[in-house]
Formats: sequence, C-alpha cells, structure tokens
Amino acid sequence: MRSFIDVPPGSDFPLQNLPYGVFIPNGSTRARPGTALGDWVVDLDALEKARLLPTSLFSGDSLNDFMAAGRETWTLVRTTLQALLSESNGRLRDDMDLRSLAIFPRQAVTMILPAKIGDYTDFYSSREHATNVGSLFRDPANALLPNWLHLPVGYHGRSSSVVVSGTDVRRPNGQTKADDADPVFGPSRLLDFELEVGFFTGPGTKLGEPVPIENATEHIFGFVLVNDWSARDIQKWEYVPLGPFLAKNFATSISPWIVTLDALEPFRCAGPVQNPHPLPYLTFDKDLSFDIGLEVSIVPPHSNDDNVVCRSNFKHMYWNIGQQLAHHTSGGCNINPGDLMASGTISGPEKGSFGSMLEITWRGAHPVKMSDGTERKFIGDGDTVIMRGAAEKDGLRIGFGEVSGKVLPAR
Ligand code: CA
Repeated sequence: MRSFIDVPPGSDFPLQNLPYGVFIPNGSTRARPGTALGDWVVDLDALEKARLLPTSLFSGDSLNDFMAAGRETWTLVRTTLQALLSESNGRLRDDMDLRSLAIFPRQAVTMILPAKIGDYTDFYSSREHATNVGSLFRDPANALLPNWLHLPVGYHGRSSSVVVSGTDVRRPNGQTKADDADPVFGPSRLLDFELEVGFFTGPGTKLGEPVPIENATEHIFGFVLVNDWSARDIQKWEYVPLGPFLAKNFATSISPWIVTLDALEPFRCAGPVQNPHPLPYLTFDKDLSFDIGLEVSIVPPHSNDDNVVCRSNFKHMYWNIGQQLAHHTSGGCNINPGDLMASGTISGPEKGSFGSMLEITWRGAHPVKMSDGTERKFIGDGDTVIMRGAAEKDGLRIGFGEVSGKVLPAR
C-alpha cells in the first residue's frame, strides 16, 4: 500500500499510520484537523468540504466531534483516507487545485492540542516503576503496596495544564521539606520527566454505565506520547495521604499526533503474566498490550546533541489499557470524548529502560553524563526533554513523532 505522496524511508507516518492531529498552517489563524503522511499534513476539513469524506466532523478546531462519532466512523474515515491517498486513485492525485489547498508541508504548520481534554487520569501501571519508586520513597522490602497487584492504581490529574509538544515548561515553585529542616517554599530542585503513553477516549458513556473490559477498545480512539513532568521534592512532601497534587499539575506534555488502534493492530501482543490472577471484571482472553519502542533524550542548553537516557517499551506495562478503562468505569464513572488517560511511567526490567530520572540516577546517586561533559541527576533549566516512540515489524513502521519540552527557570 503506497501513496502518490512520497513517504521517505523510515518515516513515522506511512499510509498505514494516518494519525490524527489539529494544525494551523503558517500564515493562517484557523486551526483544523489533519492527518500526517510522510513530511506532509492533509487537511481533513478541506477534504470534507470537497465531499471526499463521508462525514461532517472536521470543521472545528479539535477532534472531539470525530472521537464522539465512534469506532465504525473512525474505521470508515481511515479506510476512505487510505483509498483517497493511495497511488492508484486519481481523484485527489490528479486534482492539483485541491492538492494545493489541502496538503501542507509538515514544516509549514503549527500543531496544537488535538482535543479539548475534559478529564485527565494518570495510572501507575508499570510494576518495575512502582517497585523502584516504592523502594526509593519507602521501603525496598515492601515496595509494592498491598493493592497494587489487584487493581490498576491511578489518580485524577489536571487537564488545564496539558500542553502540546514544543510548549516550554516553567520549573514550578512549591513547598518542600528536607528531612532535618522546616518546610520552605521555592523552586523545585528535583524536576523530572515521566515517560508515558496515553489514550484518548470516545464516543463517551453515560453516568452509571461501566465499560466492560471486552468492549474497551470500542472506547479508545488512539494513543499519544505523554511526558508527565514531576517535581520529586514537592511530591515527596505532599503525597501522603492522598497522592500526587502540585508535584504533577504544573505541566503535562503530549505529542500532537494521535496514533489509532487500527494502525497499531499489527503490534498487539501479550502483556506480562499477572499473578495473582485479576478479578473477573479485569480479565479478558485477548491481547491488549502493544509492542511500541520508546526512548527519552535530554538536549542540554547550548547543545544540539540528543543524549539518550532511556530505551523502553510500552509492552512492559503490567496493567493494560482494557483493564485501566474497565477499572476506571467499574463504579459507574462516565467518560467523554477527548478524555486523556495516561499509562503511568513505563519502566522496563533493565536499568537502561527506566522511564524517569528518579530511577535512572537512583535519586541522584548515579548521575548521567551528557555529551557536553555536564552531569544530570534531574532536569536542569534550559534542558529540552524529547520522547519518541515507534512500533516496527517486517518493514512496517508506525511512529508517534515526538513530544518535547524545554525547561525554563522558575519565576
Ligand atoms: Ca505519572
């Protein structure tokens, strides 16, 4: 399956991917939904107005209406776009006027948040991450709390501070306390990233109607990369007894392109063995994990070097997306189109696969060397953190692009 639009080898966005995002062409003020193909962005509103799509969902500045339309429509639009953009189809290929109106170089657009995010939930679903953090914050002998192997632990996050890739992130001020001193207020000294993958929901459910695990994928539109920025010193002092609060709510960065479940279908795989066996409402006999390679880089100020500090994989997650959504809604909590649910930090079993600086440097005990000779225990002012992800198999590459954010000094 090839497109008449040239897709460079190794591109994150072949015709088999077709992720969805919202963009503003340079020189315009109007945001509109699009899909990425190679180094190009295709304007879905323009295609719809030309009556080349069987929908009227793309005239707004978010993907919420599309998410609300449900899986049948998601798949119909995808197959329509794949046919329309394939090299054998002359309808768009030979219409140079429409092509100049509807197809933009990716470098000539600005991406914005793909959805109006109503609610943001963050899980804590990597066993390795939970074990590492439990060891560092509490007791290595009892790193996992008793509930952890029985339910996907999570917390309700803050949607107002979710920002798109490329947005600068201000180091937060907050209250911290050293073990032998009184609390103080000031800039966080232990600013960290968390490597995560999040999913957007649709079409939405009614209050009081749980989503059974076997129907979960009907309610999951697609995935983005998530950097859940975290201030470890604020977190350490504030998190007892109700969990993360200001240590997390100052910024969460996401990648702009939502990669669909349809595109990732070839990369479904089994997750880790779960013992004890989960309760029936969290049990399903189909694979709901995904083999997606992930990496994190730090680019120091005044440097152009990517220093890779983590290589991990989404398949390491102990609790899968179906279990997360089934658990989240099991008490009757409703979901809306455009809700974002993030996985929690994705740490793998080996040291090079840990998804936060807290774990990579073991709370600063083992600093990481940068190519410019400096060292990092956590993230410094002027550092840019970049996360990338791609699923690859048999010559097929379904990529996510990246989520990046540069850290500005505290105000
Ligand atoms: Ca997190």
